[in-house]
Amino acid sequence: MALPTISIQRDVILQIENHCLRELPREGCGLLAGHGRDITRFFPIPNQDPRPHSFSFEPRAYLETLKEMQRLGLELLGIVHSHPSSDPRPSAKDIQEWHYPGLTSWILSLKHDEPRLSAYCIQNGQVFPVMYLVSGPASDPS
Ligand SMILES: [Zn+2]
Repeated sequence: MALPTISIQRDVILQIENHCLRELPREGCGLLAGHGRDITRFFPIPNQDPRPHSFSFEPRAYLETLKEMQRLGLELLGIVHSHPSSDPRPSAKDIQEWHYPGLTSWILSLKHDEPRLSAYCIQNGQVFPVMYLVSGPASDPS
Protein backbone atom coordinates (compact mmCIF):
# COMPACT_ATOMS: atom_id res chain seq x y z
CA MET A 1 0.00 0.00 0.00
CA ALA A 2 1.28 3.42 -0.88
CA LEU A 3 1.80 5.83 1.96
CA PRO A 4 0.29 9.32 1.99
CA THR A 5 2.79 11.70 0.55
CA ILE A 6 1.14 15.07 1.12
CA SER A 7 -0.69 16.48 4.08
CA ILE A 8 -3.41 19.09 4.00
CA GLN A 9 -5.04 20.72 6.99
CA ARG A 10 -8.70 20.01 7.65
CA ASP A 11 -9.34 23.74 7.88
CA VAL A 12 -7.90 24.27 4.41
CA ILE A 13 -10.29 21.68 2.99
CA LEU A 14 -13.23 23.43 4.65
CA GLN A 15 -12.12 26.76 3.18
CA ILE A 16 -11.89 25.23 -0.30
CA GLU A 17 -15.36 23.72 0.09
CA ASN A 18 -16.87 26.99 1.30
CA HIS A 19 -15.30 28.99 -1.49
CA CYS A 20 -16.33 26.56 -4.23
CA LEU A 21 -19.89 26.32 -2.90
CA ARG A 22 -20.13 30.12 -3.03
CA GLU A 23 -18.88 30.11 -6.65
CA LEU A 24 -21.59 27.73 -7.87
CA PRO A 25 -22.73 27.18 -10.54
CA ARG A 26 -19.27 28.09 -11.81
CA GLU A 27 -16.02 26.42 -10.93
CA GLY A 28 -14.13 27.82 -7.96
CA CYS A 29 -10.34 27.94 -8.03
CA GLY A 30 -7.33 28.94 -6.01
CA LEU A 31 -3.82 28.21 -4.84
CA LEU A 32 -2.56 25.93 -2.08
CA ALA A 33 0.53 26.82 -0.14
CA GLY A 34 2.62 25.64 2.76
CA HIS A 35 6.01 24.10 3.37
CA GLY A 36 7.52 21.01 1.75
CA ARG A 37 4.75 18.40 1.66
CA ASP A 38 2.41 20.16 4.10
CA ILE A 39 -0.40 22.34 2.77
CA THR A 40 -1.46 24.88 5.36
CA ARG A 41 -3.15 27.66 3.38
CA PHE A 42 -5.78 28.15 0.70
CA PHE A 43 -5.85 31.33 -1.36
CA PRO A 44 -8.99 31.71 -3.47
CA ILE A 45 -8.47 33.37 -6.86
CA PRO A 46 -11.35 34.84 -8.87
CA ASN A 47 -12.25 32.65 -11.81
CA GLN A 48 -12.41 34.87 -14.88
CA ASP A 49 -13.62 32.17 -17.24
CA PRO A 50 -17.29 32.71 -18.04
CA ARG A 51 -17.80 29.14 -19.25
CA PRO A 52 -19.45 26.75 -16.80
CA HIS A 53 -16.95 23.88 -16.98
CA SER A 54 -13.76 25.80 -17.01
CA PHE A 55 -11.60 28.06 -14.93
CA SER A 56 -8.78 30.50 -15.39
CA PHE A 57 -7.17 32.65 -12.76
CA GLU A 58 -7.77 36.38 -12.83
CA PRO A 59 -4.14 37.34 -13.62
CA ARG A 60 -3.76 40.27 -11.26
CA ALA A 61 -5.15 38.40 -8.25
CA TYR A 62 -2.90 35.47 -9.17
CA LEU A 63 0.23 37.64 -9.17
CA GLU A 64 -0.81 39.46 -5.99
CA THR A 65 -1.32 36.12 -4.26
CA LEU A 66 2.09 34.83 -5.35
CA LYS A 67 3.64 37.98 -3.87
CA GLU A 68 1.68 37.54 -0.66
CA MET A 69 2.91 33.95 -0.37
CA GLN A 70 6.47 35.09 -0.82
CA ARG A 71 5.97 37.73 1.86
CA LEU A 72 4.64 35.07 4.24
CA GLY A 73 7.48 32.69 3.43
CA LEU A 74 5.11 30.11 1.95
CA GLU A 75 5.73 27.84 -1.02
CA LEU A 76 3.18 27.35 -3.77
CA LEU A 77 2.35 23.63 -3.61
CA GLY A 78 -0.87 23.09 -5.50
CA ILE A 79 -3.63 24.35 -7.73
CA VAL A 80 -7.22 23.62 -6.79
CA HIS A 81 -10.47 23.95 -8.70
CA SER A 82 -13.95 22.55 -8.39
CA HIS A 83 -16.09 20.35 -10.59
CA PRO A 84 -19.65 21.49 -9.83
CA SER A 85 -21.32 18.51 -11.49
CA SER A 86 -18.67 15.96 -12.38
CA ASP A 87 -16.33 13.59 -10.58
CA PRO A 88 -13.05 14.74 -9.04
CA ARG A 89 -10.94 13.67 -12.00
CA PRO A 90 -8.99 15.95 -14.34
CA SER A 91 -10.87 16.62 -17.57
CA ALA A 92 -9.11 16.39 -20.92
CA LYS A 93 -8.94 20.18 -20.83
CA ASP A 94 -7.48 20.16 -17.30
CA ILE A 95 -4.71 17.85 -18.47
CA GLN A 96 -4.06 19.75 -21.66
CA GLU A 97 -3.90 23.10 -19.88
CA TRP A 98 -1.76 22.02 -16.96
CA HIS A 99 1.24 24.34 -16.82
CA TYR A 100 2.47 23.76 -13.29
CA PRO A 101 5.15 21.06 -13.25
CA GLY A 102 6.04 20.06 -9.71
CA LEU A 103 2.70 21.13 -8.25
CA THR A 104 -0.22 18.90 -7.40
CA SER A 105 -3.60 19.37 -9.02
CA TRP A 106 -6.50 19.26 -6.56
CA ILE A 107 -10.10 18.83 -7.66
CA LEU A 108 -13.12 19.24 -5.45
CA SER A 109 -16.21 17.52 -6.78
CA LEU A 110 -19.56 18.95 -5.73
CA LYS A 111 -21.47 16.37 -7.74
CA HIS A 112 -22.62 14.43 -4.68
CA ASP A 113 -24.05 15.52 -1.33
CA GLU A 114 -20.65 15.18 0.28
CA PRO A 115 -17.85 17.12 -1.43
CA ARG A 116 -15.00 14.93 -2.64
CA LEU A 117 -11.43 16.13 -2.91
CA SER A 118 -8.79 14.34 -4.97
CA ALA A 119 -5.18 15.17 -5.71
CA TYR A 120 -3.16 14.36 -8.82
CA CYS A 121 0.22 14.71 -10.31
CA ILE A 122 0.04 15.58 -14.01
CA GLN A 123 3.13 14.98 -16.11
CA ASN A 124 3.45 15.00 -19.88
CA GLY A 125 -0.26 14.47 -20.33
CA GLN A 126 -0.37 11.58 -17.87
CA VAL A 127 -2.32 11.66 -14.63
CA PHE A 128 -1.23 9.96 -11.42
CA PRO A 129 -3.42 9.99 -8.31
CA VAL A 130 -1.67 11.40 -5.23
CA MET A 131 -2.56 10.16 -1.76
CA TYR A 132 -2.94 12.72 0.95
CA LEU A 133 -3.32 12.84 4.69
CA VAL A 134 -5.71 15.23 6.39
CA SER A 135 -4.06 16.93 9.32
CA GLY A 136 -5.58 19.10 11.93
CA PRO A 137 -6.65 20.96 13.88
CA ALA A 138 -5.10 23.93 12.15
CA SER A 139 -2.51 25.87 14.08
CA ASP A 140 -1.97 28.56 11.50
CA PRO A 141 -0.73 31.71 13.21
CA SER A 142 -2.05 34.13 10.61
ZN1 LIG B 1 -11.49 20.58 -14.15
